[in-house]
Amino acid sequence: MLELVNLLNQYAHEYYTTDNPSVSDSEYDRLYHELLDLEQQYPELVQADSPTHRVGGKVLEGFEKYQHQYPLYSLQDAFSREELEAFDVRIRKDFPKVSYLCELKIDGLSISLMYENGILVAGATRGDGSVGENITENLKRVKDIPLTLPTAVNLTVRGECYMPRSSFDAVNQLRQENGEPEFANPRNAAAGTLRQLDTAIVAKRNLATFLYQEASPTDVSTQEAVLNKLSKNGFSVNERRILAYSMDEVWRFIEQINHERAQLPYDIDGVVIKVNDLSVQEELGFTVKAPKWAIAYKFPAEEKEAQLLSVDWTVGRTGVVTPTANLTPVKLAGTTVSRATLHNVDYIAEKDIRKDDTVIVYKAGDIIPAVLRVVENRRQSEEQLEIPTNCPSCNSELIHFEDEVALRCINPRCPAQIKEGLIHFASRDAMNITGLGPAVVEKLFAQELVKDVAGIYHLTVEDLLQLENVKEKSANKLYSAIQASKENSAEKLLFGLGIRHVGSKASQILLEHFHDLEQLAKAEREEIVALDSLGMVIAESLTSYFAQEGSQILLRELKEAGLNLAYLGEKVAANAVLSGLTVVLTGKLERLNRSEAKVKLESLGAKVTSSVSKKTSLVVAGADAGSKLIKAQELGIDIRDESWLESL
Ligand code: NAD
Repeated sequence: MLELVNLLNQYAHEYYTTDNPSVSDSEYDRLYHELLDLEQQYPELVQADSPTHRVGGKVLEGFEKYQHQYPLYSLQDAFSREELEAFDVRIRKDFPKVSYLCELKIDGLSISLMYENGILVAGATRGDGSVGENITENLKRVKDIPLTLPTAVNLTVRGECYMPRSSFDAVNQLRQENGEPEFANPRNAAAGTLRQLDTAIVAKRNLATFLYQEASPTDVSTQEAVLNKLSKNGFSVNERRILAYSMDEVWRFIEQINHERAQLPYDIDGVVIKVNDLSVQEELGFTVKAPKWAIAYKFPAEEKEAQLLSVDWTVGRTGVVTPTANLTPVKLAGTTVSRATLHNVDYIAEKDIRKDDTVIVYKAGDIIPAVLRVVENRRQSEEQLEIPTNCPSCNSELIHFEDEVALRCINPRCPAQIKEGLIHFASRDAMNITGLGPAVVEKLFAQELVKDVAGIYHLTVEDLLQLENVKEKSANKLYSAIQASKENSAEKLLFGLGIRHVGSKASQILLEHFHDLEQLAKAEREEIVALDSLGMVIAESLTSYFAQEGSQILLRELKEAGLNLAYLGEKVAANAVLSGLTVVLTGKLERLNRSEAKVKLESLGAKVTSSVSKKTSLVVAGADAGSKLIKAQELGIDIRDESWLESL
């Protein structure tokens, strides 16, 4: 469960905050549901930072925070008709005459727009649901967002901002011509665009919106009426919707939309089914994360046939050798795909993928195209794919460990691994050395100017000037970035070292505890395992890494080069009066909902967890609190109420 929480939080960070996801949505959804199942079986092990209890991502630096007056939620999702039926049964139990408004699920990002006296005064992203980014100036550049309304009303509306496919193609075409990396899909392109600090770029990219919600409607009584009202006020509202009285009708609409999907001028990833009557919505209420009165049916990943032309094998940072298929180009989820991952050598064997096979590729409306399976009746030759026995970079013999699915190059001096390691070391979440990307690393390596991460700190401006196409200005800039990185707090350095299983979150936890990298290097396995949320896998990986002589030498070299090895800590807010305390919320609060209370507690420095144990410092109890309150009383834990929280 810990592993899933850490992994999913990392993916969510990449997806929501850096707009640069590394796994497909379906892979994310699969892991998410695995965690959800485990949490249902073992509710006492639910982690406070579990993604099942949180909405979205964090606020990006560079934008002002925007505190939402009404929180924004996510949606519960369904992948089958059975799940939709179960949703319907739950609702119909109390509301037998319920009807549903079915809308398209637009694949963009949530925005909230605030109007005062009919004038647009603010626009924000969803962020974590309570606090988003203030992107007003950017949203003013989105042409279909009205800057004024027909009447001088106060109104907060919600919707999706997206990039139409035509704009997406044009933007990517331009990026390709300029040698810039292309956006993976329209959703990322829209999210990346709205987070531009330069509003002129936003204006050029032709974003558009569909609005679907009023935050606190008073003069309308159904979702359908909300949409009509939005439309009358000049907002773009998606016309493709139906009011359904049964799940049969809902399902027919889903099938129809799935059929038309490829022809739509924008991406959708499903259909949202909402209880139409707003008073019923209100009675049903919310979970911590999503409304109980709505569900999103998600379409299965789009699949296409393509022919396998050849396979490239590349060595990653950890020595894993990964096969990538070169394919006849196919159009998939908005982009042209001609390469797809084959995952690893065991996958090729398991799926029995052979030379020149026709294969099914998929891309779950998103990122990395992958080969799903072979179309066996179209097989042209029985010939097996050639599996390398030697490293494509250093030619040393590859190993296939028994407990691993991949081939691995174990030569610590393998140039491909070292290069990947350097790129990782300089990356944003690690040492954040701007200008030290793959191209520069490649040149440094080719000129033998750097052979490991310590070597970066011995580079002079003169060295950098030797590199092709590097002029004085960029050499000076890169040199300064390298020098500045010496001052980083040590968790960035630890993450940058690229020790297996030690991600950025684990690095943070480790240094918060050990304060110093040298201290951590001496730590015993048991000391690490005892830390909250780190397991044996991380502990073993760390101790065996630091036990190696090479690692000791590297650490010494980095220290001698002047790198900071201490944890500099996060700035503690002046009002963090609950800092260091672990708090559990239970029962029904009157004025705040759970997620609001949680956000408030966290903003005061508390760690909020979901189960009461000896480690709990305080319990905030509302009406009808049950077993958690009893347990807290038994353990003699301090119990407070809602007015205490408000008084803070
Ligand atoms: P979601 O996208 O599944 O659904 C909620 C969102 O749907 C709303 O916030 C709203 O923005 C949007 N929406 C679009 N049309 C709508 C309509 N007509 N009515 C109401 N809402 C509408 O939930 P989420 O919390 O934004 O994201 C979770 C999903 O994001 C995951 O299921 C996964 O697919 C993806 N994700 C992927 C990765 C990754 O690494 N690939 C990481 C995190 C999340």
